[in-house]
Amino acid sequence: MGNNLNFEDTDTILTEDRLFSPPSDVVENANITAYMRSKGFNDYESFYQWSLENRFEFWEDMAKELHWFEPWTKTFEWTEKPFFKWFTGGKFNIVYNCLDRHLESETRHKVAFYWEGDDGSNRTLTYEQLYVLTNRMAKALQNLGIQKGDRVAIYMPAIPEQVAALLAVARLGAVHTVIFGGFAANALRERINDAGAKVVITADGNYRGGKHIQLKKITDEALEETPTVEKVLVVRRLDSEVNMQEGRDFYLDELFQEIPEDTVVPCEPMDSEDLLYILYTSGSTGKPKGVVHVQAGYAVGTYTTTKFVFDMKPEDVYWCSADIGWVTGHSYIVYGPLMNGATSVLFEGTPSYPAPDRWWSIIEKFKVSIFYSSPTGIRGLMRFGEEWPAKHDLSSLRVLGSVGEPINPEAWMWYRRNIGHDELPIMDTWWQTETGAILISPTVILPLKPGSASRPFPTIEADIVDKNGKAVGENKGGFLIVRHPWPSQMRTIYRDPARYQTYWDTIPDVYFAGDAATRDQDGYFRVQGRVDDVIKVSGHRLGSMEIESSLVSHPAVAEAAAIGKPDEVKGEHVKVFVILKDGHEASDEMEKTLKLHVRTNVGPLAVPDELEFVSSLPKTRSGKIMRRVIRARELGEPVGDTSTLDA
Ligand code: ATP
Ligand code: MG
Repeated sequence: MGNNLNFEDTDTILTEDRLFSPPSDVVENANITAYMRSKGFNDYESFYQWSLENRFEFWEDMAKELHWFEPWTKTFEWTEKPFFKWFTGGKFNIVYNCLDRHLESETRHKVAFYWEGDDGSNRTLTYEQLYVLTNRMAKALQNLGIQKGDRVAIYMPAIPEQVAALLAVARLGAVHTVIFGGFAANALRERINDAGAKVVITADGNYRGGKHIQLKKITDEALEETPTVEKVLVVRRLDSEVNMQEGRDFYLDELFQEIPEDTVVPCEPMDSEDLLYILYTSGSTGKPKGVVHVQAGYAVGTYTTTKFVFDMKPEDVYWCSADIGWVTGHSYIVYGPLMNGATSVLFEGTPSYPAPDRWWSIIEKFKVSIFYSSPTGIRGLMRFGEEWPAKHDLSSLRVLGSVGEPINPEAWMWYRRNIGHDELPIMDTWWQTETGAILISPTVILPLKPGSASRPFPTIEADIVDKNGKAVGENKGGFLIVRHPWPSQMRTIYRDPARYQTYWDTIPDVYFAGDAATRDQDGYFRVQGRVDDVIKVSGHRLGSMEIESSLVSHPAVAEAAAIGKPDEVKGEHVKVFVILKDGHEASDEMEKTLKLHVRTNVGPLAVPDELEFVSSLPKTRSGKIMRRVIRARELGEPVGDTSTLDA
């Protein structure tokens, strides 16, 4: 990380007074309401206060809803600060909770995944079928020499075998590291080497947005310099001829000929704190970090947040449009939903192929009721106009979600209006690879404010402080921190514990991972952007999100990125890069219109000194705007680590 905190707090220029209250039947029937009442509370406020003072009781209650081979003996302990453990003494396997447990109930025959390929092909897997596939893959991995503690790299498209790959690895007590199937060979190689993977699971290839991706070829290139890799397991997704290296590469279907359908590889009973996976961060601010998550605490955190934030019910059809290569996919495509026995959609393709209504057609087709997506996805589709979602029956939806970046208030409104039939709640979930699960987010029972992730999840003591750790108070910007560990938090950075410690000592004794935010009089948080992206103008420090939101609030603008450029008079001046919606032309006139819009709607401080129209912005492969890359290009400086840049 290494954020240079050379300031105390930030200023805020956004005002937002729209408030959307939840309907009373939603509140009445919510999962969180049932839990609150079981603890004797009728209002959220006193429940939330209770949860801060009784965090262990809350998490113990949640942990008890899962299966343990042996119960834990100690709920939480600091080992050597800032290192800690949860649920020590317990024996646990997350995969038992995702699969085996459901075989004992009707969930056995329930659909686990409706899969849709980029090419429109479909497959449906019940929990029992996913169990069979996972067990056979676990056996195949065992036959290739994988044992408890070994690292396995997964470089695959979004197909059911990818989900089964994660589960098979974890079933054996091995450690997975998933690398997004869109990364190039060098990014793949770096991660394989950092993790010291013994086996790589990949596919012969796939289609993404209609384009043929040669996954196996890229894997071969990466493996030219990966000394730890012994074997490669190849899933056939296409029937394309690929290079297979004798003795190293094996087709899964060929191995399956020797592994009958009734093969069972029992879940390895793991210590609570044994490693589950290593996942590299998105690299928005620098070189990706190998975040380490462990079996039990991670399971408890993702199980609980899935249940309460999305209000997951047995009859829901849930779809998270992220990729399994990101933490969102780990926590909210694979582990959280499966532990909750959910029926999910898994989609291999992209939002606008073959047309910008691909997502909406999938929602209609599978009658999706909970849809979890990202600001970048929403803004990207806003650009094509409201007529695309309008073509589809989206009436099955009841809850929406967002994650990955701050969602601009007007993008939030567009999402609610066009996808959420002007009435659905949006769960704007703030969290990170490092946090493992959602930390700040509404639940369906809270009133909502556009562009605000609202309030911390029960037990999470978040605050806004200055660089010395002193609370800045209401409606002031500062550093977003959390005061006490939670179960799904990262335990370390793989092979770099010193780097882990920086999360806890940049601001004394609290967890800080680099975001600036404000909190209002109602306790609602608004993330202003990365600390690294704060812009200093005329003695004010502005978050990139606030300046960008002031532009996105104009009906012609789809996306904007703001950076600061050195300025002799002002310290820094603001330059914005703007993507217009389809049907709007870049012109001097448009530039004047947008500047005037910002001046009248937000104020002179936010008016950009420079404005450039562009057709795309540099983003991470997970879709986040990389302002550090824009800044470096603009100033002609070295760009730094670009392994995650979507070229
Ligand atoms: P790196 O740490 O390598 O720079 P990254 O921070 O983009 O990459 P992730 O863990 O994928 O890696 O992203 C977490 C970050 O995403 C958060 O710190 C925050 O900046 C942003 N973020 C995620 N969800 C939200 C949200 N709902 N509102 C505002 N910001 C969000
Ligand atoms: Mg980060």
